[in-house]
Amino acid sequence: MEPFLERIAHVDMDAFFVEVERQRRPELRGKAVVVGGAGPRSVVASASYEARTRGVGSGMPIGQARRLCPHAVVVPPDHREYGRMSERVFEVIGGFTPAVEAVSVDEAFIDIAGLRLLHPSPVAVAEGIRSALRAELGLPASIGLATTKLVAKMASRDAKPDGVHIVPAGSEQEYLRPKKVRALWGVGEATYARLEELGIATVGDLAGFPRTTLVARLGESLGGHLWDLATGRDERSVTPAGEARSISVEQTYDTDITDPEVLHRELLAHADRLASRLRRAGFVAATVQLKVRYDDFTTVTRSHTFQQPVSTGRDLYHAALTLLDRTAARHRPVRLLGIGTDGLVTAADPRQLDLAPRSWDDLEEVVEELRDRFGRDAVGRARLLDDPPEFPGDE
Ligand SMILES: [Mg+2]
Repeated sequence: MEPFLERIAHVDMDAFFVEVERQRRPELRGKAVVVGGAGPRSVVASASYEARTRGVGSGMPIGQARRLCPHAVVVPPDHREYGRMSERVFEVIGGFTPAVEAVSVDEAFIDIAGLRLLHPSPVAVAEGIRSALRAELGLPASIGLATTKLVAKMASRDAKPDGVHIVPAGSEQEYLRPKKVRALWGVGEATYARLEELGIATVGDLAGFPRTTLVARLGESLGGHLWDLATGRDERSVTPAGEARSISVEQTYDTDITDPEVLHRELLAHADRLASRLRRAGFVAATVQLKVRYDDFTTVTRSHTFQQPVSTGRDLYHAALTLLDRTAARHRPVRLLGIGTDGLVTAADPRQLDLAPRSWDDLEEVVEELRDRFGRDAVGRARLLDDPPEFPGDE
């Protein structure tokens, strides 16, 4: 199995607004297209690659774009439609893993480490995401892969249009060296001017400077930060926001559950599925939440916060079972049962180092791998089997 060292993917949709317009107006395909307002002060919001080869770029006044590319079709922006498509883009990406950090409407960082059991390499993951976006939405995307956010973001630019670019682990400095120092985060106009005074034009120039000199000139936070980035030090992890921070499993039953045994068995199955999704996404859970809906549609939720984040089905099950005892589920017909978790922490997060190694974790890891290889039903808990195995001659 590949070690998946290049675990950070930066996905950037190609000429997003233009491509969304082309989805509903196929006659625009293959033509130079510019999305921008009609007013005298309007600027280019997005340009197709046909227009870009003529020098048209985002932020350029529309008049200038028209002069550079007179045959370009100028389309007024429809941000409502772009927002709608953006949601679908994130749905497709979210189908791979919840470890997604949105950067803008058409850009995201993804931590793909949790997908290593399902795909042979980081590039295979990137190609999988690209083909899903192409197949489901008809939209092209480019993806950069690297060990850090900064390098992944730069790599996605190199991947454009419609490609993947990987910067192999260990080659970050070599990759960064010739890049313009402007490309680093935190380098705006003012900083750029000061770096220029120091004779710094490329990231390599910056990395070649003693850290102390930069700190003396620019201060610890900016000088130190830039030097760290330039030398490939970028520890920031992918931070999913909002809903992506939670994962849940729930089921509404055709027939209400009245038997506590059945309820426990369902809870155990839910916990196993939840643990499997957590592990696949490279997360551990800080909390567990139980949701019970009774036959009269009243719904109760109970939650528990762990002292240490957990990721095993066993831990999730035991916590959820304790929560179940605090409901009336034992005495009332249950229509829906669900468990979920928020307060997710990426498994690579230093906090997870607090977890003492436990053999149960290792066991579940193996089970997960077997399931990936041989299918969901290949391995289960004895208690989840509908019919316990019978032994010959056993009466
Ligand atoms: Mg883009």
